[in-house]
Amino acid sequence: MSFAIRSFPRNLSVECSAESAQFALPARGAFAPVPSDKKASSIGSVTGRVHAIRNLAADMVKVVISTDEQLEILPGQHVQVCISGFPSRVYSPTVPLKEPVDNRKICFHVRRVANGRVSSALGAAIGPGRKASISRPEGSAFLRPGLSNRLVLVSSGAGFASVWSIAHAALRENAEREIVVIAEAKHRGDLYLANALVRLAACPNVRVHPVIRAADKPQSAFWINNPLVFMPRLSPDDIVHAFGAPLLVEGVASVARTAGALCYAEPFVAAELEATP
Ligand SMILES: Cc1cc2nc3c(=O)[nH]c(=O)nc-3n(C[C@H](O)[C@H](O)[C@H](O)COP(=O)(O)OP(=O)(O)OC[C@H]3O[C@@H](n4cnc5c(N)ncnc54)[C@H](O)[C@@H]3O)c2cc1C
Repeated sequence: MSFAIRSFPRNLSVECSAESAQFALPARGAFAPVPSDKKASSIGSVTGRVHAIRNLAADMVKVVISTDEQLEILPGQHVQVCISGFPSRVYSPTVPLKEPVDNRKICFHVRRVANGRVSSALGAAIGPGRKASISRPEGSAFLRPGLSNRLVLVSSGAGFASVWSIAHAALRENAEREIVVIAEAKHRGDLYLANALVRLAACPNVRVHPVIRAADKPQSAFWINNPLVFMPRLSPDDIVHAFGAPLLVEGVASVARTAGALCYAEPFVAAELEATP
């Protein structure tokens, strides 16, 4: 049994060896079929333009970039997005919930951070039509194909974009796969993809735990707690993916390590921290 953390903090990848038919999945497209080997493949970077920007929640924005070529992205990977006139930022592509999938459009969920040079400009200085380039996809926290192990998918904030894309692809591959989703948000309003959670929860083989940390007008559907409390008892057969706040991701990785479960974790580290050696 082995355990390894690769290149923390930018890419904390931890490895420990060791009635879903109703789930109406969008058509194939934005996410290429998961290849049969374990290596992610890509065609390189592509250029494009900002196609649409839409508010999803108080501080969450959906950004759609139309690309000149199709980019092959595996669920759970991330890309560097450079919008003309702004510094590049790392974002995690996701699957649209309602719209039909378009191979030439890549969808992101971006959290506005206070004084964020890019996120604060979305919908203001950055609008539709602005040129953009997207790097070839990176990251090893992508969904491995052809497996039936239970998936435990944990996210905070915009990390749900990756969780949604992985759950979507996993259920498309095997509609009966057992999945546990733990989606954490700071506030109730941040659970911006409630519709996705509801759809996932409708699958008998999928357990969903929406968690908020702050008790602002809580609803009974949302737990107020530390998301780690909702981690199921793990076995070495489980596969865990975690995306979002570094503290949460580290906590999840630690729980997985203790259980000997395979864990792929991607902390959303701020660009300035990434640059720090
Ligand atoms: C692998 C990976 C995947 C990512 N995927 C996504 C994604 O899908 N969606 C998304 O919204 N973001 C994602 N991020 C984070 C994203 O790359 C940017 O760091 C973030 O959007 C802030 O950029 P900005 O230009 O708005 O802020 P900056 O100008 O870089 O920072 C402004 C201020 O905000 C602080 N800050 C920056 N980021 C955060 C943060 N996450 N939490 C708290 N404070 C912060 C900075 O320390 C600074 O003080 C990801 C990061 C990584 C490493």
